[in-house]
Amino acid sequence: MNLILLGMPGAGKGTQAEIIQRDFDVANISTGAMMREVSRSEGELAEKVQTFLSSGTLVPNEIIVEMLVQRISESDCDKGFLLDGFPRNLDQGKALDAAGVAIDLVLFLSISEEEIVKRMSGRRVHPESGRSYHIIYNPPEKEGLDDVTGEALIQREDDAPEVIKKRLDVYYRETEPLLDFYRNKNLKFIEIDASRPLDEVTESIRQSISN
Ligand code: ADP
Ligand code: AMP
Repeated sequence: MNLILLGMPGAGKGTQAEIIQRDFDVANISTGAMMREVSRSEGELAEKVQTFLSSGTLVPNEIIVEMLVQRISESDCDKGFLLDGFPRNLDQGKALDAAGVAIDLVLFLSISEEEIVKRMSGRRVHPESGRSYHIIYNPPEKEGLDDVTGEALIQREDDAPEVIKKRLDVYYRETEPLLDFYRNKNLKFIEIDASRPLDEVTESIRQSISN
């Protein structure tokens, strides 16, 4: 099974992706995590990617599409994969088609902008693993520390208020058109109310995948 998680930044895609990966044994691919890893390396590409990340704009398709297509050709994706954060615009959706990538299910995590701002501003992450917490809705066992490693959590620089606004603008302009793109395709498209508590959202996702 190959599936795509669509939704605004901060809708809960990464949080749910980690759970789905464990429950259904699929490869979990987050292009945001891939880009943050590139930005932490050395060199011209790292610097270039970093400018897009910190401004909340999309990394150009020339950089990201080939990387993603290469990633899903790796053997751990044979059992199925889950895309979190890709595609992010129509050209990326078309690029998946052109590469012959078959998608079985698209889950759209739908939520209001007001809730998104609360989620992103309270988000804390463990940079190494990408594990995501929320200071109120999904706190770690020990304040400020990752549950698994005990290492310090950080606030993503693109979760600053002015960058959140930019990322939402980018979402409406570039990513939202993908909803109709996938609704009109011959695949399963399911909208999930992502404004509910974490466990309830997980349960709806589980049911959608199992049916
Ligand atoms: P995305 O990957 O879509 O950008 P995340 O999974 O990182 O979003 O979630 C954004 C923030 O919202 C995190 O702080 C996360 O802990 C929190 N969160 C995720 N799902 C829920 C939920 N159902 N209810 C409340 N908070 C949530
Ligand atoms: P995310 O972790 O999904 O919120 O992504 C963080 C940032 O990574 C985005 O704001 C973009 O700069 C970049 N990014 C992630 N996925 C993509 C993509 N599919 N296309 C372009 N840029 C992306």
